[in-house]
Amino acid sequence: MKADEKIVIAIDGTSASGKSTNARLVAKALGFVYVDTGAMYRTLAWYAGKSRIDVHDPKAVGQLCRQWRTKLMCVDGAVRLLVDNYFPEKEVRTDETSALVPHVAAVPKVRDWMKQKQRDCIEFGSLVMEGRDIGSNVFPETNYKFYIDAALGARSKRREAEGVNEDLAARDQRDSQRAAAPLMVPLGAVMIDTSSQTPQESSEMILDKVRSQMRDEGRID
Ligand code: C5P
Repeated sequence: MKADEKIVIAIDGTSASGKSTNARLVAKALGFVYVDTGAMYRTLAWYAGKSRIDVHDPKAVGQLCRQWRTKLMCVDGAVRLLVDNYFPEKEVRTDETSALVPHVAAVPKVRDWMKQKQRDCIEFGSLVMEGRDIGSNVFPETNYKFYIDAALGARSKRREAEGVNEDLAARDQRDSQRAAAPLMVPLGAVMIDTSSQTPQESSEMILDKVRSQMRDEGRID
């Protein structure tokens, strides 16, 4: 019986595939803490830009990551990474930050730092953590792994509807081809294609799988 152990639900996938929306819905339904690891990488990319660090210089980026002053907080069921006591919620969503982030995310020292911080989030409770390497690298031991994807056309339309014009294919390619913890389908992950699904439909599919696994593990009746 593992009823008292915390659970980590890992949701990985391509850009704009619906990871965030699904992860938030699943976290809310289960009362788990939501962790957006993309926002953590975005925070470092934004901070590097602000500190005038060249994101194409892995040594400089790695050094910045070792030195910046950060704090993890849980606010309204979601984890925030603060830098210099500030949460750059809006700044990390700009086109400029989106363009910088795959470069900082490819630095091995950055990935080691992020992995440790992301594992530390377990102090806040059971988690729904979304990203690119959660099931493969950050919490490879979890039995709750999902990989979300959707057709490129559907994903581009979603971003356009949010007012963002971005080359998603280029970002996915960079994320998949980097040497350190690339975007991949984790072993044992349940695949979900959200191209023609509503968030309610896909999150229900995830919740069904999670509940069935929880039943198998004797966590719920
Ligand atoms: O999910 P989001 O689009 O906010 O992620 C921004 C970028 O952060 C990704 O394109 C990727 O370069 C990086 N990232 C990552 N590993 C994660 C989460 C995000 O490399 N676990």
